[in-house]
Amino acid sequence: MVVHETLLSRLKDKTLVVEAAKVGGKWVRDVSDGARFDVFNPATGVVLASLPALSATDARCAVADAKHAQKAWAKRTGRDRSAVLKCWHQLWIENLDDLALILTCEQGKPLAEARGEVLYGASYLEWFAEEAKRIYGDIIPGHAENLRILVMKQPVGVVGAITPWNFPNAMIARKVAPALAVGCAMVAKPAAETPLSMLALAVLADRAGLPDGLFSVITARSGADFGKEMTSNPDVAKITFTGSTEVGRILMRQGADQIKKLGLELGGNAPFIVFDDADIDAAVDGAMAAKYRNAGQTCVCANRIYVQSVVYETFVEKFSARVASLRVGNGLESGVEIGPLINAGSVAKVREHIADAIDRGGKVIVGSEPSELGPLFVNPTVIRDATSDMKLSREETFGPLAPIFRFETVDEVIALANDTEFGLSGYFYARDMARIFKVAEALEVGMVGVNTGLISTEVAPFGGVKQSGLGREGSRYGADDYLEIKYVCLGGQAA
Ligand code: NAP
Repeated sequence: MVVHETLLSRLKDKTLVVEAAKVGGKWVRDVSDGARFDVFNPATGVVLASLPALSATDARCAVADAKHAQKAWAKRTGRDRSAVLKCWHQLWIENLDDLALILTCEQGKPLAEARGEVLYGASYLEWFAEEAKRIYGDIIPGHAENLRILVMKQPVGVVGAITPWNFPNAMIARKVAPALAVGCAMVAKPAAETPLSMLALAVLADRAGLPDGLFSVITARSGADFGKEMTSNPDVAKITFTGSTEVGRILMRQGADQIKKLGLELGGNAPFIVFDDADIDAAVDGAMAAKYRNAGQTCVCANRIYVQSVVYETFVEKFSARVASLRVGNGLESGVEIGPLINAGSVAKVREHIADAIDRGGKVIVGSEPSELGPLFVNPTVIRDATSDMKLSREETFGPLAPIFRFETVDEVIALANDTEFGLSGYFYARDMARIFKVAEALEVGMVGVNTGLISTEVAPFGGVKQSGLGREGSRYGADDYLEIKYVCLGGQAA
């Protein structure tokens, strides 16, 4: 046991940090070849815990257990499944402080944001616990007098899940809650950087009475072997993945042989547009929320801020003053608003985007100098006079860098906003109703925030178009991703 003192000493319930994987009904502390990997605190670099590095064979065992458990789970009533999920939800809320602490320690985000994420994750469990009782089918008038047509919805079966490090609690919540609610089983792999949050949830699932085998958590050094096993194992009916578009493409290629069903929540390159009729103070608030949550490491982060010429200087001045006042530091310290980035690769990408923008004429007006807090800290940075030829315009920066572009007309900014292969989210601030409808309809994205910078909620369908993904998570549509439609043609009826 290497669980670090900073984490252990602050936990109310120390048993929530486990150095083991969950395979079917068993907690696996060691693997036969002794392979392990460490989990670090990105703010301090200290090792938080050591976990067994499981193989594809372990994932296969979890799938076999899941297949068995799923059959019995699917037979139970929606009400029964709902009761187990509600109990899990209650434990999730009761352990809010500890789950948030674990999250901040392994991921780096400020404790207040971690608490927000844990509550957001729990909201999916509550929502789908309720939906478990409402998986309705249809009766369609028959096409002949003696025929009746029934449409029933059935769980797809065993689902493989792969999640990223930026929301270690909420990303698995959005998948496991609907899957279990409708009668599926799940074998999940958290990102190697942040497995402790998902493992803590698995401990709570045990306590809630979730039957063995329904939720396995496979800890591994990298996702590649797990992905290959999930895409090639015929007992896995579907894969749900949240992460980069690049890995989404790999999974799609690998799953082609078995026509594997895929749910993909991939990368974004969100435009954030401020029109000349906008409430500029509200737009600044919205831009701060849409850009700097989780130090800019969210898939729905504003990646490109477009401001209409007439209000450009006012927005730049107000926004940069707010950014300059952000407090950077260890997420465990009170008042900190920006934590570290997750790893050296992320820091290098932000630095590369800043350097490239400067080379192409961008002017840094806040930030950019290296942080003295440690190697993974990047000071919030604002670049004005950004242009479309810069890397930050085409690639997802995934860090605390805000580039501000200037535009003249509505049609020009719509074309600029849509000039990307991504289509996850977009935001704009305006007051004119005709303009609001025109822009909301024209943006090629799955989600639009109008006069708001925060759009994530369990009651709405979350997901992207273009190369940002397939399927939706949350809302009543979120259950559909885990259901098959079966149609029964019932003959021999009274004519
Ligand atoms: P990533 O590199 O794609 O990794 C995501 C997950 O995939 C991790 O668990 C990773 O495991 C695993 N993985 C890596 N290579 C794999 C492979 N060949 N086969 C199967 N699994 C593999 O993405 P990330 O850097 O962690 O996350 C950031 C990205 O996620 C951004 O693009 C962001 O926009 C996107 N994201 C999207 C949403 C959404 O809802 N649309 C939400 C959050 C994040 P290991 O790291 O352990 O190898």
